[in-house]
Amino acid sequence: MQEFIEANEAAIRLGFFLGIFAVMAGWEVISPRRALTVSKAVRWLNNLGLVAFNTLLLRLLFPAAAVGVAAVAAEQGWGLLNHYQVPFWPAVLLAVIAMDFVIWLQHVVVHAIPLLWRLHRVHHADPDYDVTTGARFHPIEIVLSMLIKFATILLLGPPVVGVILFEVILNGMAMFNHGNVRLPESVDRLLRTLLVTPDMHRVHHSVEDDEANSNFGFNLSLWDRLFGTYRAQARGGQEGMTIGIHHYRAVREVSWISGMLTLPFKAHLGSYAINGRRWTKGDE
Ligand SMILES: [Zn+2]
Ligand SMILES: [Zn+2]
Repeated sequence: MQEFIEANEAAIRLGFFLGIFAVMAGWEVISPRRALTVSKAVRWLNNLGLVAFNTLLLRLLFPAAAVGVAAVAAEQGWGLLNHYQVPFWPAVLLAVIAMDFVIWLQHVVVHAIPLLWRLHRVHHADPDYDVTTGARFHPIEIVLSMLIKFATILLLGPPVVGVILFEVILNGMAMFNHGNVRLPESVDRLLRTLLVTPDMHRVHHSVEDDEANSNFGFNLSLWDRLFGTYRAQARGGQEGMTIGIHHYRAVREVSWISGMLTLPFKAHLGSYAINGRRWTKGDE
């Protein structure tokens, strides 16, 4: 099976992407959680246009991708899991969990540091929340994420299959937890004990800075619970909360590709990043 997965990596990833995208897109049409403020045609054309551009950019810059780096690390015996010759399946499991932790930590950092928040706010500036929000990131953030992933792989030494599995899970979970969908409350509560659900991640897309600085997880809900950044609900509720960021609300700025690409270079940062907060007496 290991050889089959490695040989058919591209097809497996594309198959899961298209399958999960179709399920989520259909679910959003049948029973949307919130009404969209910008038409679906404009959203999809621009968000997916940016995704296509980023995919092409990554292919050009890093043709071997994360899987290639994992293969080199395995050949050379680099990284913890290779060095200690951890057996295959425990190594796959440890790799997926460790990579999920790194991506959680990276997410906290891009919120805290002003220069990185400039890039990451492209993801947050979306005034609506649907399956296409999950993949809209500024190209510079995409390249940075890839470099962090390469460094993680070189230090960790995960099996190639572990990297493929992680990419498939992350991609699928990003589409699932950005879905404009509603799960029955009991199912949401049960799932949240282990995984990030759409209602949980939607809180992270609130315009309120304390709510945006919570629920950083993409896959496991564990990291937010463990490190104290978990928030069960938005104050306004799932339907009443406002999604997006303060100061940038014009469709041309937040929904068009031209606006998304130039957003990091605009001046106003707001109070989201770590030194942008106002602490006043009585707030404590
Ligand atoms: Zn974020
Ligand atoms: Zn998000």
